[in-house]
Amino acid sequence: MKQSSKVIIVAIDGPAGAGKSTVAKTLARKLGYLHIDTGAMYRCVTLKALRSKTNLESNHDLENLAKTSNVELKPGEPENKVFLDGEDVSKEIRTPEVTKSSAFIANCVPVRKILVARQQQMGRVDSAPYGGAVLEGRDIGTDVFPDAQYKFYLDASVEMRAKRRLRDLEKAGTQTTLESVMADVQARDDRDMNRAVGGLRKTADSIIMDHSELSVEESAEELYQFIRQHPR
Ligand code: C5P
Repeated sequence: MKQSSKVIIVAIDGPAGAGKSTVAKTLARKLGYLHIDTGAMYRCVTLKALRSKTNLESNHDLENLAKTSNVELKPGEPENKVFLDGEDVSKEIRTPEVTKSSAFIANCVPVRKILVARQQQMGRVDSAPYGGAVLEGRDIGTDVFPDAQYKFYLDASVEMRAKRRLRDLEKAGTQTTLESVMADVQARDDRDMNRAVGGLRKTADSIIMDHSELSVEESAEELYQFIRQHPR
């Protein structure tokens, strides 16, 4: 009898700015797995809501919007590409306005249900030709794939994340202070951790890694070695 092939799910959760996206992308490349950036999916629904001037406080309107949104994540170098209803929105979903408004979308339970179901489909079905998927977000190990073979919680101190963010902002020509960026990072953590549904939390079986002092390459290598040494 033909054995059904097992899809391996690697869940990476953690606060904003801990470097999850680049680590997940690098790890997925090392493993040959599909990389699924779930934050990009919340950002796409946010962008569509802003463009269509949808009331961000109406769960019903946001649910309809999410139902009719076609989000595609396509691997690319150096960045993955994100398509919303066939349009490349990779850059537009990263604006400060989308980042700020995404909190409303992340709080909308009906939208979460739709996106979680899509993420499960991508992880189980779309990743099958690759043998596995690396999904990153806030609720992957808790809600999307509670039975993932590997659950990593990627942490980094508020100060370290704020310093990285400050460097990016300065590169983009924005003048601000470390104190102000630290306050923003702390506020995002509070929102992410205190959401009623899909909030960021460690589970009993999360492998917690603090990568404040590591480069992206070193972080990805540490996760990769852990997976290699613990076949599941
Ligand atoms: O990770 P990123 O900053 O791209 O996430 C965009 C937004 O989506 C944030 O508001 C974050 O809290 C939310 N999010 C979520 N659940 C996920 C991934 C992201 O609520 N699995």
